[in-house]
Amino acid sequence: MPDRAQKRFQNRVAIVTGASSGIGRATALALGGEGAKVTVTARRPERLGALAREIEMAGGAALPLAGDVTEADFRSRVVEETVERFGGLDHLVNSAGVIAFGTIENTGLDAWQRMFALNVEAVFDLMRLSVPHLLERKGSIVNVSSVNGIRSFPGVLAYNSSKSALDQLTRCSALELAAKGVRVNSVNPGVTRTELHLAGGLDDDRYAAFVEHSKTTHPIGRIGKPEEVADLALFLLSDDAGFCTGVTIPVDGGRHLTCAR
Ligand code: NDP
Repeated sequence: MPDRAQKRFQNRVAIVTGASSGIGRATALALGGEGAKVTVTARRPERLGALAREIEMAGGAALPLAGDVTEADFRSRVVEETVERFGGLDHLVNSAGVIAFGTIENTGLDAWQRMFALNVEAVFDLMRLSVPHLLERKGSIVNVSSVNGIRSFPGVLAYNSSKSALDQLTRCSALELAAKGVRVNSVNPGVTRTELHLAGGLDDDRYAAFVEHSKTTHPIGRIGKPEEVADLALFLLSDDAGFCTGVTIPVDGGRHLTCAR
């Protein structure tokens, strides 16, 4: 196991999207705790400000940038301002994402396009904009995908499709960048306690029932914690994973083994 006292990310520069909540927030905090300079981005500025203070208390540095990553101008701004403020870029973590419920019979084209705009297109474009900088420092990317990217579940058609597309983006770009020293990997969480399902339309009661049911669909018998996903993301970002690229690793209590619903 890595010696955390060594601070694997000391003086490294990272961008983390979706940093106002859940997995993105846990990953940004963990990076800051290991000495990184982190651009934290999402739409809610007050949360980013509070997170930036926490990262600074933990020994890192933070640049909070509030905006919508489905907007091209904002994506350019995130990369440009990060490089301007911190002098370069070592790591990109794409965690911003949304879930929506629907089948092939009741998913509208607009809902499909909204899903892909955030879960796929924004990731592609942030990767595209970041790669020239990552090449300079032989950096790494982690995309936050899902067990839904590697297994099929009914009732979340657009979400499943978006995460499969994301996994292919991870693999293809990993292949293209491997010889140039930039690694690209995905973490593929199972159900994790965050705001995702509430933001996607479940009310508190249905979310509580979903969490309870998830004990049966995850062989380990519980849902995950954002910090458990962040631990894997930091491993894949770090030099400890220097021989890993193009992997899509489940962190899902064994759910990918069963496809249980
Ligand atoms: P949360 O809802 O807790 O976090 C989602 C983050 O994305 C928030 O910070 C939100 O911030 C941000 N976000 C949403 N839309 C936009 C947008 N248009 N522009 C910028 N930021 C945006 O969910 P999770 O932490 O769970 O989700 C993180 C990733 O993990 C997602 O990609 C999700 O698909 C994946 N995942 C989650 C699982 C789970 O069970 N929780 C399971 C498998 C995968 P704000 O609202 O402030 O903009």
